[in-house]
Amino acid sequence: MNFGFSRNRPYTLSDEQNSLCTAIANTGKKNKEALDKIENKTSMEEYCSFCAEKGQNSKIIVVNNKQVYGRSVGKWSWIYICRGCRQYVGMHPYTTVPLGLRADFKTRQQRIISKGKFNDLWYLRRQKHEISVRMRTMYYKLLAEEMNLKKEDCHFGMFDYEQCIEAEKCIIRIRENLKNE
Ligand SMILES: [Zn+2]
Repeated sequence: MNFGFSRNRPYTLSDEQNSLCTAIANTGKKNKEALDKIENKTSMEEYCSFCAEKGQNSKIIVVNNKQVYGRSVGKWSWIYICRGCRQYVGMHPYTTVPLGLRADFKTRQQRIISKGKFNDLWYLRRQKHEISVRMRTMYYKLLAEEMNLKKEDCHFGMFDYEQCIEAEKCIIRIRENLKNE
């Protein structure tokens, strides 16, 4: 089974990586079902490219997210984190596929702000859940078109800082277009 860790270079698994592998082995069908749903199955790099730019050789390791949140959060609480710069990213539940790209603090904050503005577009408190989900899908499609991205690449978790800012501008345009319709 490919756990998403580098296959080219032998990877010494830490205790936490080992327990993640065990957890995946124990998910049974859930792992396969989860993988089938992920359109963009990226794998995590072994050494941090952000640190490499600064001439440092920092390894990316798997840890429980209590190391960054102070307590274990979510049903699948593993994250990839760089030992050097501490940039981190979560994983799709029941898999080792990273949720988007690792980001620095500034980018993570901006993703939250920009996604909040996007959510304001579609999230209607009194709507039924199914309607909200349909609305969200529709607005993601509009946002992808407006940003010239493929639908599967249009996720706030994958945006860099500049893309977050661009997304906010697009959200304003989408809102105005809809007003004029
Ligand atoms: Zn790093």
